[in-house]
Amino acid sequence: MRPPLIAGNWKMNGTAAEAEALARAIRQGIEERPPVGVEALVCPPYLVLERVRAILDGSPVRLGAQDVHWEAKGAYTGEISPAMLQQAGCTHVIVGHSERRHIMGESNEQVNRKLKAALAAGLTPIVCVGELLEERTAGDTRKVVERQAQKAFDGVPPADVPRAVLAYEPVWAIGTGRTATPAQAQETHRFLRNTMGRIAGLEAAERIRILYGGSVKPENIRDLMEQPDVDGALVGGASLDAASFVKIVRYKE
Ligand code: PEP
Repeated sequence: MRPPLIAGNWKMNGTAAEAEALARAIRQGIEERPPVGVEALVCPPYLVLERVRAILDGSPVRLGAQDVHWEAKGAYTGEISPAMLQQAGCTHVIVGHSERRHIMGESNEQVNRKLKAALAAGLTPIVCVGELLEERTAGDTRKVVERQAQKAFDGVPPADVPRAVLAYEPVWAIGTGRTATPAQAQETHRFLRNTMGRIAGLEAAERIRILYGGSVKPENIRDLMEQPDVDGALVGGASLDAASFVKIVRYKE
């Protein structure tokens, strides 16, 4: 019902040649023994999307972008539209990553616009939510992720909700080597699924995939994926190493 999705977020890393080599190695690794029923996705920087697309063409590995603007065109210096991403071969796009929220100051309202623009263009948005360490310490995790999810999906018709993917990424676990325990992940994923039920109804909540993100590695993916409400992973650092990423995608082996 919810095919597992493993998505790699390459962030602002790599030269064009390194991106090509990484894409080639990931394709090769996955095609050697394609994992049954697991979807794999890579999200390189904008500038190398087309190069990576050429390498992945015809493979089971999908292509996504790390961000998108909500307008179709116009005077938005530095921004990229949904149609531009599609033209570059993207099927998915990350929106509301914590680095964009906390470093670039992206608001819940902007995340909502991006989510709606991606859905309208037929892209699959991967919407990130997650609490800061001080918010977790203060016992505010549920309040924070509930608000982020509610705002992100504001005005999205319930029937469209399962076309999106939600990613729970506790900010204290991103790039820190500190992973949420499987139990912590499951607790928040369950809470988020219940939240999606209140937003869009039970059916949509059962269908939407919720990925976990935050220092996912080959060593911890299996325990995370055993949790009933963890439907995949959004992987940063470990997605820059083809062997690690392929192992994560093949977590069932
Ligand atoms: C991320 O940035 O989405 C992420 C989860 O990074 P890392 O895997 O490096 O913690």
